[in-house]
Amino acid sequence: MRLAQLRFSLHVFGLLAMLIAFSSTVTFAADRPLSNVVVLATGGTIAGAGASSANSATYQAAKVPISKLLEDVPQLGQVANVKGEQVFQVASESFTNDDLMVLAKRVSALSKQSDVDGIVITHGTDTVEETAYFLNLTIHTKKPIVLVASMRPGTAMSADGMLNLYDGVVVAASSSARDRGVMVVLNDNIYSGRDVSKMINISPNAFVSPWGSLGMVVEGKPYWFRLLDKRHTTHSEFDIDHIKTLPEVDIVYGYGNVDGTAIDAFVQKGDKAIIYAGTGNGAVPARLVPVLQKAREQGVQVVRSSHVNLGGFVVRNAEQPDDKYNWVAGHDLNPQKAKILTSVALTKTTNSRDIQRIFWEY
Ligand code: GLU
Repeated sequence: MRLAQLRFSLHVFGLLAMLIAFSSTVTFAADRPLSNVVVLATGGTIAGAGASSANSATYQAAKVPISKLLEDVPQLGQVANVKGEQVFQVASESFTNDDLMVLAKRVSALSKQSDVDGIVITHGTDTVEETAYFLNLTIHTKKPIVLVASMRPGTAMSADGMLNLYDGVVVAASSSARDRGVMVVLNDNIYSGRDVSKMINISPNAFVSPWGSLGMVVEGKPYWFRLLDKRHTTHSEFDIDHIKTLPEVDIVYGYGNVDGTAIDAFVQKGDKAIIYAGTGNGAVPARLVPVLQKAREQGVQVVRSSHVNLGGFVVRNAEQPDDKYNWVAGHDLNPQKAKILTSVALTKTTNSRDIQRIFWEY
């Protein structure tokens, strides 16, 4: 009888202890201080302004300063302690390799600060996919880095920038977003910076990843569905802190009747690699094969990519004998992403087999 009583009180004691532990966990979560998020502004339509609210496509990008963008979304204060910093004020089609380096070095420095939990970058939609992939390859941090953009200027009816900025800060402030690689948040979706691309240039639903989004933001809460399997951020062999300049890489567009003028000009200019944005499976017309072979003999890397929009997946040795020519198959990367990866890869190696390995892994 006594033993049973003892067992009963131990049981009650255990339950009480669990209850106290549980309630203290809940209290801790509710009282947890807000995350610190830095918003780096670079311009784009999200900082754009038009003459009238009916102007959704005719406006000037890169006009509104970061202080005003943050003021316009007071709800950010409930999500994070937000600080803004104006890095550039440009339309993103004007981005250069030097701009990429400046931005990436700033992101890297901030990511090392103990008082920064996440970073948001406001950006033009035109080249956000390039910047996001570059940061995904070169920034060594598990802290969330999120690029946001908008398709309509803030002055337009049904402008999308405020919600995209809010959602971006929600993701950057969330510990659930750590170690997922650099992300792009637009139109409620959280995309991987590795494979998201601008597919439509006139509607807020402009971005698509051939492999789907990583998750969604709904009413201030991130929901996750996938993980990126490719190497990124802390899993990457590239580190912006050790990159001084980016080798010149250009893209040649493939189409019926294309000739070798552009390839020759890029070789002449001193490019270290050419991305051939081929048709279909990265196909190269017979008349261009010797032109590209000559470029390769002169030390220029040749990467076969595809300009097919959704899923330009290039198979090695299929359309061309890449092994024989020492060319690289661009895997599933679109030409502009292949350009970024090749440029980054060339900071470490000029061996085409090693560059091919990098294409499979990143
Ligand atoms: N072309 C401009 C840019 O990329 C505006 C496009 C946009 O942001 O949607 O910055």
